[in-house]
Amino acid sequence: MMRTLLLLLLAFGVAFCESIDQFPERETNQSGTYLKVLGIAQDAGFPQIACKKDCCKAAWQDESLRKRVSCLGLTDQQNAWLLEATPNIRTQLQELDGELQGIFLTHAHMGHYTGLMHVGREALGADQIPVYAMPRMDTFLRSNGPWSQLVGLKNIMIRPIQKDSMVRLSPNVSIQPIQVPHRDEFSETVGFHIHGPTKSALFIPDIDKWYLWEEDIVDWIKKVDYALLDGTFYQNGEIPGRDMSQIPHPFIQESIALFESLSAAEKQKVIFIHFNHTNPLLKQQSKEYQEVIKKGYRIASEGMEIAL
Ligand SMILES: [Zn+2]
Ligand SMILES: [Zn+2]
Ligand SMILES: [Zn+2]
Repeated sequence: MMRTLLLLLLAFGVAFCESIDQFPERETNQSGTYLKVLGIAQDAGFPQIACKKDCCKAAWQDESLRKRVSCLGLTDQQNAWLLEATPNIRTQLQELDGELQGIFLTHAHMGHYTGLMHVGREALGADQIPVYAMPRMDTFLRSNGPWSQLVGLKNIMIRPIQKDSMVRLSPNVSIQPIQVPHRDEFSETVGFHIHGPTKSALFIPDIDKWYLWEEDIVDWIKKVDYALLDGTFYQNGEIPGRDMSQIPHPFIQESIALFESLSAAEKQKVIFIHFNHTNPLLKQQSKEYQEVIKKGYRIASEGMEIAL
């Protein structure tokens, strides 16, 4: 009896201490540390160059339907980082909340790094912006023009990162590169595990197939608070006349089947992103969009904010 009482008292004491120590800090952090979705399309954007098909018709006519290439802004109080340097970096930087402190790159495909061209002497003429890059990405930038000029002129300062190692950006925020299998012609490919003061998010915009990864995506979803995942194609056969095994991605239909065993709360963590112009999830009124929402998943939209 005495022991139970003591335990109870102890537990109450700890809970009480926690509430006075952490509550105010968490409050401020919750409003001050977050991810903001600045783009949701696959590398080529939406509508896609020269596409005259139904998928892009409306977006060519109505500018408000256009989508920028997948990108996240990470804000911590006054400081901010871009995750990806996309061809749409001009407006994405404009909408980033806070002072740009650095850019994290996932890999060397056109939608993920070519925005760096805007930090060079023809445009921003930046002074040593930190660019966080994995070893092959680092070598690629240093040894190929025009990127090598950004290094030479010190517009960018490459900060080497390693898979799984934690990059501490502030007392509140750390980022961990997570390597994934992808068509690695010019660089390796990573996703990012972003750790905020109270929550964490996984961002994997590009991966070949979940089963080709040595890690288990279902376990990852359980372990994080949000998972922004490759949603390039909705289903097989989406691009007629093109062998889709040459451009492998987990189809949304495959991912949904794989995530079936997750609880409703866990499914809510999944936010699909990186949509090809053919993907019906680019259109809110499509039956596929409604279907995915009904099954309990989320679909990234520009301007969406995710508290960390
Ligand atoms: Zn991509
Ligand atoms: Zn199209
Ligand atoms: Zn890619």
